[in-house]
Amino acid sequence: MGEAESHGTTFCYNNTVVGAHFEGNQIYLHVSQTETVKECDHHSQQHPDILLLPKLVVNSAGLSAAAVARCFRGINPGVIPPYYFARGCYFSLLSSKVPPFKHLIYPIPEDGGLGVHVTLDLDGQIKFGPDVEWLDPIDDISSIQNKFDYTVCADRAKKFYPEIRKYYPSLKDGSLQPGYAGIRPKVSGPGEGFADFIIQGEESHGIPGLVNLFGIESPGLTSSMAIAEHVATQLSV
Ligand SMILES: Cc1cc2nc3c(=O)[nH]c(=O)nc-3n(C[C@H](O)[C@H](O)[C@H](O)COP(=O)(O)OP(=O)(O)OC[C@H]3O[C@@H](n4cnc5c(N)ncnc54)[C@H](O)[C@@H]3O)c2cc1C
Repeated sequence: MGEAESHGTTFCYNNTVVGAHFEGNQIYLHVSQTETVKECDHHSQQHPDILLLPKLVVNSAGLSAAAVARCFRGINPGVIPPYYFARGCYFSLLSSKVPPFKHLIYPIPEDGGLGVHVTLDLDGQIKFGPDVEWLDPIDDISSIQNKFDYTVCADRAKKFYPEIRKYYPSLKDGSLQPGYAGIRPKVSGPGEGFADFIIQGEESHGIPGLVNLFGIESPGLTSSMAIAEHVATQLSV
C-alpha cells in the first residue's frame, strides 16, 4: 500500500461504486458514500454523490463483482456470468499441551472446495476448514450493501468431526470451537464442477477501458500478482 501511494495511488475508503454509464469511449463511474448506500432501501433511487471519469476501470469487487457489473448501464447483461456463493466456516482446536500437527494437511478435495484441511497460524493455533455451504442467491443491492451472512453456526461442528477424524482419528468430542467464515464468489454452482476465474476485457463486453474480474476465489490471493499483470496487459494502450 505504501509503495502504491508513493507511486501516486490514492485509496478511497468508505465509498461504494453504485453504477456506471458510458458515453462514447468515456466511463462515468457512480460513487456514493458507503454509509448512504447502507441506508438505501430497494425502492429508493440511487443518486451517486460523485461521478468519476477514469481512463480505466478494474471491477475487482469480489463477491459483488457481478452485482456491480449489472449496475453498469450499457453493458450487455448476457456477458455477466451467473454468480454463486459458497460460505466456508473454520473451527479452531481448543489448545492442547502438545499440538497434534506440525504441518498442513489436505484431504481429497470435495465438490466446491479443497476439503476441511488443517492450517497452523503463526501463533500455533490449529484451525480446520473451510467447509462448503451454498448460500441462497442475494439481490444486487444487498450484495453491494455487503449484507452477506458470515455467521459460523456452532451446530456445523457436527459435520466437521467425521471429516477431521478421517485423518485425525483421536479428535476428542467437544474440542472444536467456532472460528470465522469467509464466502467464495463462484461462477459454477452446486454439482457443476470446477470453473476457472473469468478475466473479462473489451473483447467480451465491448467497453474500452473496463476489465471485470469474476469468480476470483481461492487461489485468488496467491495468484493476485499474476492476475494483476494479466489485467495490466489487457489494459495497456
Ligand atoms: C474461506 C476462504 C478461504 C480462502 N483461502 C485461500 C487460500 O488459501 N489461498 C488463496 O490464494 N486464496 C484463498 N481464498 C480466496 C481469496 O481470499 C480471494 O481470491 C481474494 O480475496 C480475492 O481478492 P479480490 O481483491 O478479487 O476480492 P476481495 O478480497 O473480495 O475484495 C473485494 C473488495 O471490493 C470491495 N467492494 C465490493 N463491492 C464494492 C463496491 N460496490 N464499491 C467499492 N468497493 C467494493 C470490497 O469491500 C472488498 O474490499 C479464500 C477465500 C475464502 C472465502
